[in-house]
Amino acid sequence: MAIHLLPDALVSQIAAGEVVERPASVVKELLENALDAGARAIAVALEQGGVKRIRVTDDGSGIARADLPLALARHATSKIASLGDLERVATLGFRGEALASIASVARVSITSRTTEAEHAWRIEAAGAPAGSVEPAAHPLGTTVEVLDLYFNTPARRKFLKTEATEFAHCADAFARIALARPDLGLTLRHNGRVSEHLAPGPLAGRVAALLGEEFGRTARAVHAEAPGLRLTGFLGDPARARGSRDAQYVFVNRRFVRDRLVAHALREAYADVLHADRHATYVLYLDVDPGAVDVNVHPAKTEVRFRDARSIHQFVRHAAARALAVAAAAAPVPLATANPPGDDRFAPRARPEQAGLGVAQPVAAYQAMLAPAPVAAAPSPERSPDAPPLGFALAQLHGIYILAQNERGLVVVDMHAAHERILYEQLKQALDARSPGAQQLLVPVTFDADPIELATLEEHRAVLGALGLDAAAASPTAIVVRSVPGALAGGDVAALTRALLAELREFGASEALTRHRDALLATMACHGAVRANRALTVPEMNALLRRMEDTERAGQCNHGRPTWYQLSLAELDKLFMRGR
Ligand code: ADP
Ligand code: MG
Repeated sequence: MAIHLLPDALVSQIAAGEVVERPASVVKELLENALDAGARAIAVALEQGGVKRIRVTDDGSGIARADLPLALARHATSKIASLGDLERVATLGFRGEALASIASVARVSITSRTTEAEHAWRIEAAGAPAGSVEPAAHPLGTTVEVLDLYFNTPARRKFLKTEATEFAHCADAFARIALARPDLGLTLRHNGRVSEHLAPGPLAGRVAALLGEEFGRTARAVHAEAPGLRLTGFLGDPARARGSRDAQYVFVNRRFVRDRLVAHALREAYADVLHADRHATYVLYLDVDPGAVDVNVHPAKTEVRFRDARSIHQFVRHAAARALAVAAAAAPVPLATANPPGDDRFAPRARPEQAGLGVAQPVAAYQAMLAPAPVAAAPSPERSPDAPPLGFALAQLHGIYILAQNERGLVVVDMHAAHERILYEQLKQALDARSPGAQQLLVPVTFDADPIELATLEEHRAVLGALGLDAAAASPTAIVVRSVPGALAGGDVAALTRALLAELREFGASEALTRHRDALLATMACHGAVRANRALTVPEMNALLRRMEDTERAGQCNHGRPTWYQLSLAELDKLFMRGR
């Protein structure tokens, strides 16, 4: 066949394959358009799981008569005009292809009225270029109706599932928008019956309406900020985790995304408190500078690419882990006799669970921590042995902080961050010295692995070896680890290996070790570091303080967060308005 240009309608149908996967994709695109038009209230009406009819009505800005034919044209958008715009898109749409794609595989009509217009206008299209624009009746805003999806592409129609399944997907698309924008009023009808009716209100109420009262009652709130980053939302109680991933909602700049990096960070944050085959539930909102994230990765725009993936990962992981730890520490620990046998509903969450599931930080990790640093800096000569800079431990606060007294006043140490920093430096120095300090495990650790993990292992085995991890395939479905760096020998070896494999898969490239060395070391350090809620003895705390003093850059953890804070007596006096 000679080379020829494809007819426009066929080009749209091909593009529709990516954008219009099923009725739910239409619901998503139409809802996003309504949001971009500044709607305050949106009504969605479906018939037969959306296959027969999808109608979305909004009270947004509307489409002017002259623009109606353009709304259905491919690559026609009112949202961006230049590459510069593309680099900081603030609207949900921008590719100008959704309506054209939908119209190429369904019968579409748009009825719309702007404030300037005396009445509404309507346009129709059905698998072909749009017809003429006719006068119509409609209040300010827009109704888009999509009938008989795939009426002209029977092959695609065959891939549709049952009405109930397609409706469930549509309802999920609706829920994602509803969670992104609690300030909007939204209704969803199916076959004439109201299935959701959501009044505008605070986020917590919206979350409870969509994820259930129990989630609302037991979830932990997250709020963390760093320069250019903010994470807010709710983390489901680990004790109520589900068997599937279907209640995991992450929004980046209020756009629902399915991001492996963020999902991985959250898996890590939950790792201490969740059984491996359970899935956490969460609704999280990550806000970043639009210039720091690329949303133009896939036509459906549910994938994003962060400019600085590394720091996003660290930020999310720490913020979530912290929120979970604080909540666990605050949870009252009932007497052992308080629960009837077999009833674990009121059991204290994190601590016993860790022990029961074998994911606790075993004692060996602390013995490793207490061991003298292999490459300790020589103490400075003027330092008197009885006045160490970070002082002596007084107590542990909420399983998170160590309080110590030094000459100037009070020192507050973030236990996990500090230990992580120490391990990081230790691992790095060992690697620089080309002796990763691999320690043979007395009992090799074998764990189930999926084909992707095994493939990643095959590709990156040498990298792991250089990091001190001797891992190999034990069978087509399992991995065995025979040695790990000594400093990490007491930790959860399977979790550590899995995290490294996930990371290597993410990096992909062959020079993983040279280009991503620090990131890999950071992951190892994080896994080895003492977890929140581990009660430390005073000698253990003092040992940690001494190790901090000996470790380079101990004032900062690997991700630039401070690891300790000095509160001087003068500052304390000021708090109490006590002049000296
Ligand atoms: P995109 O959203 O990527 O711009 P679409 O094909 O989804 O592309 O929509 C094309 C254009 O039609 C939009 O840019 C917008 O100007 C207009 N439009 C679509 N839906 C609406 C709506 N509900 N209200 C107002 N304008 C709309
Ligand atoms: Mg759109």
